[in-house]
Amino acid sequence: MSFDSLGLAEPLLRAVHEQGYTVPTPIQSQAIPAVLSGGDLLAGAQTGTGKTAGFVLPMLQRLAAKPAVRDARGRLPIRALILTPTRELAAQVEESVRNYGKYMKLASMVMFGGVGMQPQIDKLRKGVDILVATPGRLLDHAQQRTLDLSHVEIFVLDEADRMLDMGFVHDIKKVLALVPAKKQSLLFSATFSDEIKNLADRLLNKPALIEVARRNQTAELIAQKVHPVGREMKKDLLVHLIKSNDWHQVLVFTRMKHGANRLVEHLLKQDVSAMAIHGNKSQSARTKALADFKNGELRVLVATDIAARGIDIDQLPHVVNFELPNVPEDYVHRIGRTGRAGTPGEAISLVCVDEDGFLRDIEKLIKREIPKQIIPGFAPHPGEKPEPIVLGRMVIGAGAGRGGGHRHSNGGAHASRGRNDSRNAQPAARPAGPRPDARRQGKPPARLTQPKR
Ligand code: AMP
Repeated sequence: MSFDSLGLAEPLLRAVHEQGYTVPTPIQSQAIPAVLSGGDLLAGAQTGTGKTAGFVLPMLQRLAAKPAVRDARGRLPIRALILTPTRELAAQVEESVRNYGKYMKLASMVMFGGVGMQPQIDKLRKGVDILVATPGRLLDHAQQRTLDLSHVEIFVLDEADRMLDMGFVHDIKKVLALVPAKKQSLLFSATFSDEIKNLADRLLNKPALIEVARRNQTAELIAQKVHPVGREMKKDLLVHLIKSNDWHQVLVFTRMKHGANRLVEHLLKQDVSAMAIHGNKSQSARTKALADFKNGELRVLVATDIAARGIDIDQLPHVVNFELPNVPEDYVHRIGRTGRAGTPGEAISLVCVDEDGFLRDIEKLIKREIPKQIIPGFAPHPGEKPEPIVLGRMVIGAGAGRGGGHRHSNGGAHASRGRNDSRNAQPAARPAGPRPDARRQGKPPARLTQPKR
């Protein structure tokens, strides 16, 4: 199958060829005709599948086919709205809109918090066809009446599962009240929880259903490996791996911001260029770190899970889990940064005895055992005992995973296995603690709090 057979207009095909794409990815070959037909869409696809082009290309074609009508004040209305959970993803999606739409006369804009409102207001005044936004700042503009969403024809919720994880459910509902009831709606999500299904029921009208990679399936192209290692030797092992293998572009994950900062300090001392990207960093620092990493000036980018969400780097060769995530699904998201769109990648996890439970949970989720390889000189000490892992306001019992061991709250009645990066977008609408539905159904409170660090 080629792009030419998908019904896309010539200016889009030209832009796609310029990007170097020759064959549509599975999500693209299914989503493009579905969106072009004008119907709603529910798509199960993770970052790395090419989903962005899957909705941006047909969106551009539909908007270009129907000229914009100026509103009563002579302004060009916003005709497409794409909501994303993070600033990074918003910026990347808008960049895709500009790349794919370079031969079309449609104006796009990215909007997120942490930067001044006035430049955004000025840009809105000039007329924007396609707005890519994170929910918080979008609602700020709506409240100040500097934004009119009443002419939106196409609405996209990108990475809807992550938006719900980040506590955006109320914000999404507020945005839905601002867009017309009659519109084309597209919902993309890597996973399908009951909450996502509820949202889809609310938002979508007889949607086409597409699912490209089965939930929690790790890409075949990614070579996964675990290096069992002594707790105190992880930092040195990482330096050893980077130097001995001559890696030049490595994305490294830690669970906590502090850990990310400490690791960067260590790498810099060892003459390995590195920067951290997490929610405590300013937007300009994050943008710079990502740009330097992408253009090869920075050898190592250290990220926490939420900050890394949406990072899009072509053909990233190496992902290292310096620490395993306490939420097993995050492992799948993390390693999805490599082996993207047909290029092979390597995902390496440095696992100490404290994390055996996390590893068991991950292997259960991905339904396969990850090969283990001890690097000579870095083997765990035979007598090393597991120690509890401190995560925000809680402690996870030594060596315990979701399936076993003990969890202790050490402060805060609602401590749960939460993500440990504060959100890098807007403040949570939902208070910390397990979701009401999780409590009602007697499920263990999982992965939903954002302990303040
Ligand atoms: P996404 O899942 O939208 O974040 O895209 C993942 C990566 O795949 C991006 O870097 C795209 O530039 C790239 N990509 C998207 N579509 C294709 C394609 N048809 N062929 C090759 N690469 C692609």
